[in-house]
Amino acid sequence: MVATRTPLMAGNWKMNFDHLQSIAFVQKLAWTLKDADHDYAKVEVAVFPPFTDLRSVQTVVDADKLDVVYGGQDLSQHDSGAYTGDISGAFLSKLGCSYALVGHSERRTIHGEDDATCNAKVQAALRHGLTPVLCVGETLEQREATENPAEVSIAQLIAGLEGVADDAELVIAYEPVWAIGTGRVATAEQAQEVCHALRGALAERFGEERAAQIRILYGGSVKPDNVASIMREPDIDGALVGGASLVIDDFAAIVRYR
Ligand code: PGA
Repeated sequence: MVATRTPLMAGNWKMNFDHLQSIAFVQKLAWTLKDADHDYAKVEVAVFPPFTDLRSVQTVVDADKLDVVYGGQDLSQHDSGAYTGDISGAFLSKLGCSYALVGHSERRTIHGEDDATCNAKVQAALRHGLTPVLCVGETLEQREATENPAEVSIAQLIAGLEGVADDAELVIAYEPVWAIGTGRVATAEQAQEVCHALRGALAERFGEERAAQIRILYGGSVKPDNVASIMREPDIDGALVGGASLVIDDFAAIVRYR
C-alpha cells in the first residue's frame, strides 16, 4: 500500500534555551529555511521547547507567520487541580501547541514514568486536541537480552495506546535508549527493522489502512550526515532530534535532508 505521510522533523530542545534564546532561535531557523527555498509542504518542522518558552515561541510564530509548529516536552495526565509543578494539556492547547511528547526515555528513567502513566498522558493529550508523540525504545541491556529488538518497543506501544480510538491522531517515535545523546546512532537497517515491526503492531491494533497513515519517527543521535540514510527507509517518516536540534545549521540541514 502506498501511503503519503508528510515527513516530520522534530527538535526536542530538552532543558536548553530560555525564552529569549527561544525567540532568536525560532526566527533564525525560519529565515534559514526560507533562504534555502525550503518547501514546507514537503516537510513539517516542529520544535519542543521548555514549557517556559512556549508563550514566546507562540508569539513569534504567530507574528511572523512562521511555518513552524511546536509542542510540549511532556504534559500532565490530569486536566487541572492540585498537581504542583505539572502542566495541563489544556494549557498547551491554549498556547497553540500541536503536539506533546509522551514517554520520552528521559521521562521514563529520570521521572519513573511507566506505561500506565504514558497511556494516561496519551489520553490527556488527545482530550485536549494535541497529537501525542509516543516515544518507545529499548535500553542496550534489553536489546542484548532478546532475539527480537522490537519486543520492548512493541510492548510500550501497545500499553501506551490502550483505549485510544482507531482514528486518533498519533505520532510514534522509536528512540533506542542506547542511541540517545551518545553519538551512537542505530544503523538505518536497525531503525527500519523496529519501525517496520511497530507499523505491524499498529496495523494489528488499528487496521492496515490507519497504520499506513501514522508517522513513525526515528530518534537517537540524528545528525546532518546520517539523516538521509535513515529517511530512505520505508517505515521511517521523520526524526526526533535532540542535540543537533540546538544548532541552527544542523537542524536546518536535517530538515532539508533530501
Ligand atoms: P539526541 O536526542 O538526538 O541528542 O540523541 C534524541 C532525543 O532524545 O529525542
